[in-house]
Amino acid sequence: MKAIRVKAFGDPSVLQIEDVPDLTPGPGQVVVELRAIGVNPVETYMRSGVYPVKPALPYTPGADGTGVVKVIGKDAHKYKLGDRVYLAGSVSGTYAEQALCEERTVHPLPKNVTFQQGAALGVPYSTAYRALFDKAHVRAGETVLIHGASGSVGIAAVQFGRAFGLRVIGTAGSERGLALVIAQGAHDVVNHSQPDHFEKAMALTEGRGFDAIIEMLANVNLAKDLPILAKFGRVVVVGSRGPVEITPRDAMTRDASILAMTMFNATPEDQASIHAAIVAGIADNTLRPVVSKEFPLAQAPAAHKAVMEPGANGKIVLIP
Ligand code: NAP
Repeated sequence: MKAIRVKAFGDPSVLQIEDVPDLTPGPGQVVVELRAIGVNPVETYMRSGVYPVKPALPYTPGADGTGVVKVIGKDAHKYKLGDRVYLAGSVSGTYAEQALCEERTVHPLPKNVTFQQGAALGVPYSTAYRALFDKAHVRAGETVLIHGASGSVGIAAVQFGRAFGLRVIGTAGSERGLALVIAQGAHDVVNHSQPDHFEKAMALTEGRGFDAIIEMLANVNLAKDLPILAKFGRVVVVGSRGPVEITPRDAMTRDASILAMTMFNATPEDQASIHAAIVAGIADNTLRPVVSKEFPLAQAPAAHKAVMEPGANGKIVLIP
């Protein structure tokens, strides 16, 4: 089978396609024949070697993907051959024609979403769920700002938030992105490329502030998020690409909380609960992943460049 292999950390050109042996499952594992692979920003940080989590070289990148169950290992009983599934993590990496997975990280893919859409479910939807429900502990009726709502995690957060009964304000950096965020269910939008968008967002709360902010770019926004929080408001740092200076008093005067997360810290029990919610939301059409661009597997370097550019407006997927 074909797989992307990384033999040295570096720029996107280190993502090389190669022939590698077919995979064999151990006890409790399955091999999935992949149909679509989700590309996440974290895979670019890991590839460049700057991320705290460094895979042992050589490795195949990727945690997300969809496909059909191809081989079933001993003591794996959840699936039968040919079942449509999505992956939330794998043992072998997903930038390939096949992925080796622990059965517990494989979830059913309902027929009402395509393989491409399903490739957005692993990291983005689980992150959005964890930020809103496990970290911010949002309650129906609260007002939330999704700061970076036009991206993969943001779209998921808008859909989860709207279905749960939140008032959802989202941000995007282009007219197309703003229209996309409204189409996903946000009540209102502001453009994060405009410096006064914090004041505009605050005005949409009639000056009360946000109960929760889900923050995709904390190094740029965190200092200005704090003054637009309501009393007892929570910011959840999901994404950050550098340092930031804040004024602690902006948090103190509100009894505000600055929370942070990485999906690497979610336990298997947390993951089971999160994916039960995702599968239910897909089945009843509450959750509708948006695919923006498709690349053939061999063009993984181009996909890595695209995922770091503004204006993706949805999920970038590789097709094996
Ligand atoms: P993505 O699909 O590339 O989306 C990036 C989002 O950031 C877009 O909505 C983009 O909007 C927005 N953005 C750009 N400039 C912004 C600004 N000044 N203020 C607010 N938002 C801005 O990426 P993703 O998969 O959604 O991930 C988002 C971030 O979360 C990434 O940094 C990623 O590494 C991180 N993440 C963390 C975890 C975790 O476990 N903590 C898990 C998943 C992702 P426009 O394109 O419209 O400008």
